[in-house]
Amino acid sequence: MGVNPYPRVDRILPTEEASALIDLTCEIADAELAPRAEDFEARGEFPRELVRTLGRAGLLGLPYPEEYGGGAQPYEVYLQVLEELARRWMVAAEAVSVHTLACYPTATFGSDAQRKRFLPDMLGGELLGGYCLSEPAGGSDAAAMTTRGVRDGDDYVVTGTKAWITHAGVADFYNVFCRTGGPGAGGISCLLADAATPGIKPLARERTMGMRASPVAQIAFNGARVGADRLLGEENGGFRIAMSALDGGRLGIGACAVGLAQAALDYAVGYAKEREQFGRPIMQFQGIGFMLADMATQVSAARALVLAAARLRDAGRPFGIEAAKAKLFATDMAMRVTTDAVQVLGGYGYVSDHPVERYMREAKVLQIVEGTNQIQRLVIARSL
Ligand SMILES: Cc1cc2nc3c(=O)[nH]c(=O)nc-3n(C[C@H](O)[C@H](O)[C@H](O)COP(=O)(O)OP(=O)(O)OC[C@H]3O[C@@H](n4cnc5c(N)ncnc54)[C@H](O)[C@@H]3O)c2cc1C
Repeated sequence: MGVNPYPRVDRILPTEEASALIDLTCEIADAELAPRAEDFEARGEFPRELVRTLGRAGLLGLPYPEEYGGGAQPYEVYLQVLEELARRWMVAAEAVSVHTLACYPTATFGSDAQRKRFLPDMLGGELLGGYCLSEPAGGSDAAAMTTRGVRDGDDYVVTGTKAWITHAGVADFYNVFCRTGGPGAGGISCLLADAATPGIKPLARERTMGMRASPVAQIAFNGARVGADRLLGEENGGFRIAMSALDGGRLGIGACAVGLAQAALDYAVGYAKEREQFGRPIMQFQGIGFMLADMATQVSAARALVLAAARLRDAGRPFGIEAAKAKLFATDMAMRVTTDAVQVLGGYGYVSDHPVERYMREAKVLQIVEGTNQIQRLVIARSL
């Protein structure tokens, strides 16, 4: 459309270094991600090399300590990087978000020895992670999981099936949550499994509505032996790890939602200024202008909510409830804004010549992952 498709967002960043990081992200995303998104989506191919490029640029370990190869950035900066990636291509942003989530149990609950052994490769971007919590019989009620880890000598023998695992088949390591004790949340442990472990087998890829370049599949664990030295945190202390990882992960999903909605808004505005009906640009009809005004306002509100929760986290304050509100608001917002963007384009919004129909399909999953928006409401209601 002849104008910059990703106009600069006015951001207040805490340091010069953070500003430079956002500039670098935009540069890489403009050059490497945006031009390739449609092709990879059409082929359903995971962009492993592009994700490696993001890793080499330091974008795969941003909120983790420098001594292990991380970027030592505040969460609010990491989230704004994610947002800029999501504007260009959700799959790339999701890859960074899921990988960051998958590094969290080791970075936060791992022993010194485990951190030294595993984190540098994870944060350097050579190894990609997956997070295996959900199961076929239950995602929301994760504490009811049935995958078992039975101690046998120096190993846990893991048997069961995990479901909906992002990066299934392309990840190098998985966090595997499994039952090592009695029923409920108090009998679950977190193991860090090498993806190449015999007995770990990704099953057929799901045929998803959107983000088709991102592989999602069940993973079967058929007596897979995972060394007891790969237990993260305490035995039967895994559920706390899972929930604490998701608090941060939900902010990541919120930031992705903001970036996606910003992309839809920018595209719709560009289109509305050029498309003419009744002898004038449709932007000049109040029905369209007000719709775009509401979209712009919602994007700004969601960004503010996500960053406010992140700043609580950065200050070392409890932030889980605010993260639930931010995830809920930002992802519902992204669904509305991307749907409205399709409406602004009329019939052209419904076909894949324009990216807004893809944005709308991508927005839907954000209301489901890392706790559905019903579960976020449950978390918020309980806190009131
Ligand atoms: C593309 C994709 C990628 C994913 N990636 C991963 C991943 O990498 N790792 C992973 O572990 N999981 C992943 N998931 C799984 C995701 O987290 C679950 O789908 C989600 O938690 C919901 O679980 P469920 O699908 O079993 O739905 P269910 O839990 O069966 O829920 C069905 C419906 O009931 C509602 N519901 C359930 N309980 C309540 C309640 N108490 N009150 C009100 N409503 C309720 C839900 O909101 C939902 O609308 C992914 C899912 C998708 C679609």
